[in-house]
Amino acid sequence: MKVYIGLGSNLANPETQVLSAQQDLAKLPLTQDIAMSSLYKSPPMGPKDQPDYINAVVALETSLSPNDLLSQLQGIEQQHGRVRQRHWGERTLDLDILLYGDEQINEPHLHVPHKGIAERAFVLYPLAEIAPNLLIPKFGHITELLASCPKDGLERLEKNEI
Ligand code: ATP
Ligand code: CA
Ligand code: CA
Repeated sequence: MKVYIGLGSNLANPETQVLSAQQDLAKLPLTQDIAMSSLYKSPPMGPKDQPDYINAVVALETSLSPNDLLSQLQGIEQQHGRVRQRHWGERTLDLDILLYGDEQINEPHLHVPHKGIAERAFVLYPLAEIAPNLLIPKFGHITELLASCPKDGLERLEKNEI
């Protein structure tokens, strides 16, 4: 199954967190790494008194079930020292399942497509970079979504800025 994972970090050298998380994702069981977007910098979505975020999106091919994938992602977040504090607060690493093929999953602990996918610039722009023709179940074509999603201060980082 082709899946897209959203990565975010704003603590403890966020660029390194995101790049090493990509390596961790590529090493998951039953999984191959397909593509990773550029790194992006974005202002925080929740409380404003926290550092800017580094974001990226990774495409994987996996045979893990959605629930197994979620627990593997939570394991990687733990290895990166994630501590849950305030809602949408600072974190060393956040890994969200954005899409799991074209499946729609609505379980108490797992919503796919990810609930924020259509309105978050730091998700849509990197996603469009690696999947420019994506049709997102429930939400529509990524081109249409981008057209109504302001960049909100999102910046794509050049390789020499990392
Ligand atoms: P948001 O989900 O709005 O981006 P967040 O990433 O800060 O916020 P977390 O604290 O990381 O939220 O996660 C809260 C819970 O969200 C997790 O325990 C998980 O069970 C649930 N969850 C639901 N859908 C997903 C998904 N598609 N990917 C990852 N976690 C999900
Ligand atoms: Ca998130
Ligand atoms: Ca999350």
